[in-house]
Amino acid sequence: SPIPDYLAEVLGASAGTGEGAVADYIPELAKADPDRFGVTISTIDGVLYSAGDADVEFSIQSISKPFVYALALADRGLDGVLAKVGVEPSGDAFNELSLEPGTGRPRNPMINAGAIATHSLAGAPGLDAAERLERVVAGLSAFAGRRLEVDEQVCASELETAHRNLALAHILRSYDILEEDPTQVVAGYTRQCSLLVSTRDLAVMAATLANGGRQPITGEQIVPPRVARQVLSVMTTCGMYDAAGDWVTTVGIPAKSGVAGGLIGALPGQVGVATFSPRLDAHGNSVRGVHLFGRMSDDMGLHLMDVP
Ligand code: GLU
Repeated sequence: SPIPDYLAEVLGASAGTGEGAVADYIPELAKADPDRFGVTISTIDGVLYSAGDADVEFSIQSISKPFVYALALADRGLDGVLAKVGVEPSGDAFNELSLEPGTGRPRNPMINAGAIATHSLAGAPGLDAAERLERVVAGLSAFAGRRLEVDEQVCASELETAHRNLALAHILRSYDILEEDPTQVVAGYTRQCSLLVSTRDLAVMAATLANGGRQPITGEQIVPPRVARQVLSVMTTCGMYDAAGDWVTTVGIPAKSGVAGGLIGALPGQVGVATFSPRLDAHGNSVRGVHLFGRMSDDMGLHLMDVP
C-alpha cells in the first residue's frame, strides 16, 4: 500500500523542523526525548497506518479533554454540561481563568478551567472521586480499545506543581461551578492527564469521534452520534488553544493538542490522525505535529472547507 510510504515521507519532511521546546512546567515532562516523532492514521473502518515512533507512550495531557467532555455529555446530557461549561473560544492560553462574567462558567471545556469542571461532570451524579475517576479511565480506555494506565511519575510531578490548576479549581468552587472539594477534583483531573497513550491509541480514539462515537475496532458505541458532533464542533473552535483560528484556516481539521507533544485530528466520516513530537511552540502545540498536519491536509485535501 502507498500510504505507509507516504507517511514515512511526510514524517521525514517535517522532522527537519527542530524548533520549539519540550514543556518544562511539569518537571517530569522536561525529561522527554525531544527527537521522538511518530504518526498514525486510523480509518473509520479501523485500518491503521503508522510511521516513526507510533508505539512510544507519552502522557495524554490535554488530549484527554475532548474525550472526557464526551463522557460528561453522555452522562449528564447537553444541558447539564452547558449549565457548567460554555462552548465559546476564549482566545486565551490554556491555563488562563477565562470565565464568563457573572455566571463564572468556564468559556469552554478545552481550557484547563473548563476541563477541570468537565472532569467533575463525568459519571452519574453522586459518584465519589474514586468512582468518577474509574468512569473516566474506563471511558477513555473504551475509546482506545485497551485499558490505559497512569504514568505515576508524571502524575506525582504534576500534582506537586499544580498550584495554578488548584487556584482555578478553588475559583470554580466559589462560583458553585464545582460543587465539591476542589483538591479532589484536581487530583482526578491530573490522573486523567497522566494516562499513557501512543499515536496508535490516539488515532483510534480520534477515529471513534470521526465515526459518530462508534469505536472502529471493537464496534462499541462509546458515545451517541450527537455527542461526537458536539465534541468535534468544540475541537474545531477551541482545540488548539489560542492558535485555534490559525489552525482552522490553514489545516481545517477538528483537533486537540497536549503539552506532552501529542496532537489529534478527527475528520468526520473519514479518519482519525495522531502525531507525537514533544517540542512545543509558544501556544503549547507540537511544532512538528502542526507542520505534519498542514502537509497532510494539503496533500490529501483534508481541510473541512475544501470542496471535494
Ligand atoms: N495537565 C496539563 C495541565 O493541566 C494539561 C495541559 C495541556 O496539555 O495543555 O496543565
